[in-house]
Amino acid sequence: MVTKSKNRDHLNLLCDIGDLAALLTASSNIRNFLQRTAVMVADHLSADVCSIYLFDRDARELVLAATVGLNPDAVGQIRMKPGEGLVGCTLVKQQPVCEGSASRNPQFKYFEGSGEDRFESFLSVRISKGAENIGVLVVQHEQRNYFDDVDVMALRAAASQLASAIENARLLMEMNPQGTSEIQNTSAASQLKFIRGESASGGYVRALSTIFNKRIDWLLSEPSEADAGYTLKHFHRAVQLTENQLQELQSRVAERLPESASLIFTAHFMILKDERFIHEITSHIEKGVTPPEAVRIVARHYISMFASSPYMYLREKVNDMEDLTGRILSNFRQLDIDAPAVCGGRVVIARELYPSDILKLASEDVAGIILVSGGVTSHVSILARSMHIPMVIADRPELLALPEATPMLMDADIGNIYVNPSDVVIQQFEERNQARTVTSLLADDMLPATQTQDGEPVHLMAIINLLGELELASRLKAEGVGLYRSEFPFLIRSNFPSEQEQYLIYRRIFDAMPDKPVTIRTLDIGGDKVLSYTDATAESNPELGLRSIRFSLKNPDVFEQQIKAVLRAGADAGALRIMFPMISSIDEFQEARHHVMRCLNELERIHAPHHPSPRIGVMIELPSVLEIMDELAAQADFFSIGTNDFVQYMLAVDRTNEKVAEYYQPSHPSVLRGLARITRAAAHQGKEVSICGEMAHELAYIPFLIGIGIRVLSIAPQFLPSVQKTICSLSLPVAEDYASRLLSASTLRTTRDIIENFTSQSVLV
Ligand code: PEP
Ligand code: MG
Repeated sequence: MVTKSKNRDHLNLLCDIGDLAALLTASSNIRNFLQRTAVMVADHLSADVCSIYLFDRDARELVLAATVGLNPDAVGQIRMKPGEGLVGCTLVKQQPVCEGSASRNPQFKYFEGSGEDRFESFLSVRISKGAENIGVLVVQHEQRNYFDDVDVMALRAAASQLASAIENARLLMEMNPQGTSEIQNTSAASQLKFIRGESASGGYVRALSTIFNKRIDWLLSEPSEADAGYTLKHFHRAVQLTENQLQELQSRVAERLPESASLIFTAHFMILKDERFIHEITSHIEKGVTPPEAVRIVARHYISMFASSPYMYLREKVNDMEDLTGRILSNFRQLDIDAPAVCGGRVVIARELYPSDILKLASEDVAGIILVSGGVTSHVSILARSMHIPMVIADRPELLALPEATPMLMDADIGNIYVNPSDVVIQQFEERNQARTVTSLLADDMLPATQTQDGEPVHLMAIINLLGELELASRLKAEGVGLYRSEFPFLIRSNFPSEQEQYLIYRRIFDAMPDKPVTIRTLDIGGDKVLSYTDATAESNPELGLRSIRFSLKNPDVFEQQIKAVLRAGADAGALRIMFPMISSIDEFQEARHHVMRCLNELERIHAPHHPSPRIGVMIELPSVLEIMDELAAQADFFSIGTNDFVQYMLAVDRTNEKVAEYYQPSHPSVLRGLARITRAAAHQGKEVSICGEMAHELAYIPFLIGIGIRVLSIAPQFLPSVQKTICSLSLPVAEDYASRLLSASTLRTTRDIIENFTSQSVLV
């Protein structure tokens, strides 16, 4: 029987929670948000206690995140497994728990020091989104039998209304590891010592850590006392300093990346020069708001404007705005102390990176990168390798909770990460690193031509992603460019490069490789290579979406501009080769080739100097081509197998998704047999076929590829010496025997055994 005098206010509870959620998105700090929610729920239900437990997905535990009525020191301390105590039961049963006398329930679990022994009435509901556990909302009261059915309904409704806001809060916490996420992650982070990740870009690094997203801390931070010391003059100086730093960064990017034409920071400059932006901040300051707070207020306003835009390119500006604001705010401090560059010299830990982020980080001379999502054949990884930034991918989100400036050691060659490495580990690695430097000097021994032990020539071509790699490719005696990933200039800019801009970029490639074959692959965007400035609607399955040649054929202007730029730039080239990516049918190939013919006619008509007879080739990346390979081989001039995508599509494994990395198996019998079949069909028609995916530099696969008849390999320049050495130590009969054993194996286990046996016994380097 419920006997109580209480002033319940269920309707207002829901309205107020709605307001709170809005408040959270606008400005509030996460801890405050949860705390204020607890206060509000307790208040409206006239409860003595309201607690919010969040479900820590990594530890699979509920953690007390906010409370009113229990000991505040218990926040972050009380943890329980699903099923443990009444709170844990709420999660497992997915039903509210309403107890008039909680201490009598055998499931009740008292947590020492929480102060909850006095509260007899207990009501809890699960907070969830779909099937996903978000947490548990609990109210308690001293009086027995205090809560009734209406309270249960109200608390349930409140929990469902809170779910999205709390989910957002959790996202923000994950982005802000310095903040409340310590509830979830710091205990796990403090136990981190050694992590085995996957190498995305090799190298050895010993440096302090920094979290990449931490710049958005400012978004969540409250005004501080120090803010009051700054004046309008400080604001103008901070803006000036920011502009100088960006100019410096921009010129560094221009040196390393001529193809970007330094457009990475355009948005930053535009905002910095935007009179309204400066004026709005100034007028807040003149009204008495402290300068840092004025910057935060106006920046938040811009961010919410950008974030709610229906246009992707405007939503992209949110990143720029956050980055810019973080820089301005840190430059207030820089008036007093000379703070170091944000990421320079550090091991950057990031949840997610865009290609342009890699370029920014490179321009700040980042020491290494740890990415907690992604795949080693993703384009961010490819770009990191091109920029020689060691990078490891490790699916360990608790890394994001590491304290700033934690000493780190990364052996990115094999993907090992040491947190707070011991002296012994450091010494071992320093010694190995010296040995590695000596090995890299062997690059000087590169021979101009490559052949097997028994004299069979194999041609080593370079893959070029960035123009800066051309120099190394020439130095390492690459026999030409086997693949120029022409999308990189498109990816790192904020709008489509014009035909003339593309012409200048391609000219540099032909000039660097006079009299050598150069293969330009036409635009291969989509999938994990998203152009921020095309307003393509987000695709739920981008790897199967409007990717690559499909995009080019749907955008003939963009396609033809590119082809004309290539034909003009290669006017004097010895062998100009144009290659279409992701061709799925003969019809598609013919349609793409038709555009080349149209461009040739047009250039002819206007008497523009151009290459008159490019070779036209196809990238083999889709299994659909296997069945039509004979007919396709009769029509195309040459082929290059893109094994990165061929494996992805053959096995239906997203190459960028670390969670399914174990399924990404180039040694799958179907992949190996597919490669052999393509090679045979091309050879039958007397057409060249090369390999240009990552398999081409993997020492375990090179003998197989030679064994099935591949005589051209396209590889990133840094791998040229090791690949040459492997081939020189190989004889054709050995390679052919190895290949035929692999081709007769029908299970993954057998192919793996054959590979392991071969590599452990052979003299491969
Ligand atoms: C491939 O798919 O193997 C390839 C070389 O193309 P990209 O990695 O650029 O998709
Ligand atoms: Mg590909």
